[in-house]
Amino acid sequence: MRIVHFLSLLLSVLSVFAQKAKIHTVSTEAGIEVLVDNPEVIPVSVTFSYEFTNMKSSKGSAFTALVPAESKNINVATLMPTRKGKYSYKSSYNYFYGDLNNKEIDPDFAYLLPYETGASFKLSQGYLSSGTHSAKYALDFTMPINTTVVAARGGTVFKVIDEFDKTCYRPGCEDFNNVIRIYHEDGTIGEYAHINTNSALVKPGDQVKANQPIAKSGNIGYSSGPHLHFEVAVPTINGTKTIPTKFEISTNKQTELLTEGKYYRKK
Ligand SMILES: [Zn+2]
Repeated sequence: MRIVHFLSLLLSVLSVFAQKAKIHTVSTEAGIEVLVDNPEVIPVSVTFSYEFTNMKSSKGSAFTALVPAESKNINVATLMPTRKGKYSYKSSYNYFYGDLNNKEIDPDFAYLLPYETGASFKLSQGYLSSGTHSAKYALDFTMPINTTVVAARGGTVFKVIDEFDKTCYRPGCEDFNNVIRIYHEDGTIGEYAHINTNSALVKPGDQVKANQPIAKSGNIGYSSGPHLHFEVAVPTINGTKTIPTKFEISTNKQTELLTEGKYYRKK
């Protein structure tokens, strides 16, 4: 079989995604090898869906591949003709930060309050509250602009947006949120939102420890007043899904879910 003939029959685009991961193919004796490059600093999941004509894949027509951080030419499948004559395929891909099939999440991990020791702030919106968190496990701490925000948990910083400078309180304005996202050891993702313009103290690829300052708080994006929005999420096929997390708020190592309306002083 002359593999080189395949290439003229390909219907797919060989490089995809608005984001940085890239899919490409190479022909070998075994068939068409599907390869992924992931320049991101954390793992990514790529979902593949194929329509084959006289072809098959070593992984079936729909599968998900987990691609390690900062990797190149990761072989995720081999496409092969099933008979002589014409063969072709159409493909579509989707790309997600983190592991879609993660089973390692630790529901009892002790998060730290995301501000400095001695500071006390009100939890103005708690989980699933009636405001902008009605369908979200997210927390809003009311705090003055330029309060130091610290990592609630260590991990790898993979997204930093701090160039926005406007505030507007209506749906759609979340597109102008300044955020920092940190990938945790158990595959969950922490998000710190509405940070002040040009206030980030970390950059993508940085490893941060819990309690390390990462930014100054602000009132940027979809925000009704100065506060820090914090949430932890996991990737799903339909986008990220927020999850509840427990905090260590006293010195006796007890953890608890936070209650809306209460002030929390960091010990
Ligand atoms: Zn919020």
